[in-house]
Amino acid sequence: MEAINWSDLTFGYMKTDYNVRSHYQDGKWSDLEITDSEFLNLHIASTCLHYGQESFEGLKAFRGKDNKIRIFRMRENALRMQESSRGIMMAELPVELFEKAVVEAVKRNERFVPPCESGASLYIRPLLIGTSAQVGVKPATEYTFVLFVTPVGPYFKEGFKTTPVVIYREYDRAAPLGTGTIKVGGNYAASLVAGTKAHDGGYSAVLYLDAREKKYIDECGPANFFGIKNNTYVTPQSTSILPSITNKSLIQLAEDAGMRVERRAIPVEELATFEEAGMCGTAAVISPIQRVDDVAENKSYIFSADGKPGVICEKLYKQLRAIQYGDAEDKYGWVTIL
Ligand SMILES: *Cc1c(COP(=O)(O)O)cnc(C)c1O
Repeated sequence: MEAINWSDLTFGYMKTDYNVRSHYQDGKWSDLEITDSEFLNLHIASTCLHYGQESFEGLKAFRGKDNKIRIFRMRENALRMQESSRGIMMAELPVELFEKAVVEAVKRNERFVPPCESGASLYIRPLLIGTSAQVGVKPATEYTFVLFVTPVGPYFKEGFKTTPVVIYREYDRAAPLGTGTIKVGGNYAASLVAGTKAHDGGYSAVLYLDAREKKYIDECGPANFFGIKNNTYVTPQSTSILPSITNKSLIQLAEDAGMRVERRAIPVEELATFEEAGMCGTAAVISPIQRVDDVAENKSYIFSADGKPGVICEKLYKQLRAIQYGDAEDKYGWVTIL
């Protein structure tokens, strides 16, 4: 077995020893199957290939100073995957089976959970696809759930720092009453053109506005948005954003710290009033925003002139990481210790 150079890890893919699967057929989910194959044998008429019957999740496991492995809020991911299933008419995977799959995959790939001091973690990727043959537009009758893991490097290799994001008014990620609230691959396909343009332009992400009026902030491609002002954590309320588990956790920590929390429509111009702004999601926890360029309006909203993150972003980031790595008390039972 080759040794892994933990400090070389990026957010990529590395083969691990096992992945776990369950198949849905005749109204029942199979027992977990454990395999070392990285491939699926798929029917060419599977609904996932033609009509986008696919959803995924993302969560992480962390190794603490005590060498124990902690999985963060997996029940929330299980519930969200069920919500995604309802949104595109797939069979719902039972929460217990989802949790069992997570634990099984992490345990069997324990040697891939990075050491605490590396700042790296084990990324867990569950996915669910429609697999029965169908050429008419109809939900599949059979489904496959796959869960694999891969070690990923720390998001902030050169320390916690801000990045610029961009508003492109000529692209939408999700429709107001469409699939923006569920975690399906189609939303990501729809974000690739704008996302690639943003990266080529030196931005870390696209900040999407509401598709109907282009007046309010929705979210970034793969992360929720929040702004901080007057000791208040403000995050969008919208019918086209994905309910981020990280955002939900940060809201709890902000409330605990005595901050007010507002979930409401945020007009773009309000960006000018925030003292700090950030994106949040499993990958980075918080990715603080340096500035937002609204290209079509020829406006820039600057949150950090010197590139340093704001104090509240930094505090919330450290607090959540401390819970994940077992350095702070897990008051809410967010963590499953293996
Ligand atoms: C997954 C995802 C997020 C982040 O959710 P977390 O549960 O915090 O990882 C935010 N926005 C979109 C569109 C997503 O798909």
